[in-house]
Amino acid sequence: MRPATRAAIFRRLRAANPTPTTELVHASPFELLVAVMLSAHTTDKSVNAATAVLFPVANTPLRIAALGAEGVKPYIRSVGLYNTKAANLAALARQIVERHGGEVPADRAALEALPGVGRKTASIILNMVFGQPEIAVDTHIFRVANRTGLAPGKTPRVVEAGLIAATPPEFRKDAHHWLILHGRYVCTARTPKCPTCIIRDLCKYKHKTPAAKRSGISAAIRRGGKRARR
Ligand code: SF4
Repeated sequence: MRPATRAAIFRRLRAANPTPTTELVHASPFELLVAVMLSAHTTDKSVNAATAVLFPVANTPLRIAALGAEGVKPYIRSVGLYNTKAANLAALARQIVERHGGEVPADRAALEALPGVGRKTASIILNMVFGQPEIAVDTHIFRVANRTGLAPGKTPRVVEAGLIAATPPEFRKDAHHWLILHGRYVCTARTPKCPTCIIRDLCKYKHKTPAAKRSGISAAIRRGGKRARR
């Protein structure tokens, strides 16, 4: 893809949503870390439902560590894999208290050493909390990057490297949010909304969804109308 096309795609995404952010409700770096960690293999909606009851009770590493895995479980039952996530969450909170003075660490190695935190979660925290131009690649971004031609690749790591290398610096901070929202609501997995997509003319996808044809009923009504006017 030509650099000018890539820049044009991001310019349009930015114009449509100048200040993109996550849909995970949070009020602190630790709350964001917990929400992102819980969001693996589940929807943001069910995570927000869980954290809405968990955070008023425990929203710091100390309080989560004090609750422990069994204490956390009742609050996060709406989230997939909640048994494992409860154990990870309690261990993560303990580790942050013991090794990082109760603060979310600011480097990738320390983040990825936390229980339940992988590369994608670490990238989101580095990007959103510490302002680093990381681009976490989830299933939505992987699809959008490949379809559009922004950063084609067979694995998330290849796509991530392609996006980081080729995204113009001015768009790197927000690229993750623009692409994830575009994938979630427009460039959906089964039937992408190509006819109304704001980057349709710049996208390289060969199988764009065509505009819907007028229904047979509408056509019949139009024909009937013409006959009536004769
Ligand atoms: S034109 Fe279609 S395939 Fe391309 S980005 Fe838009 S929705 Fe996705």
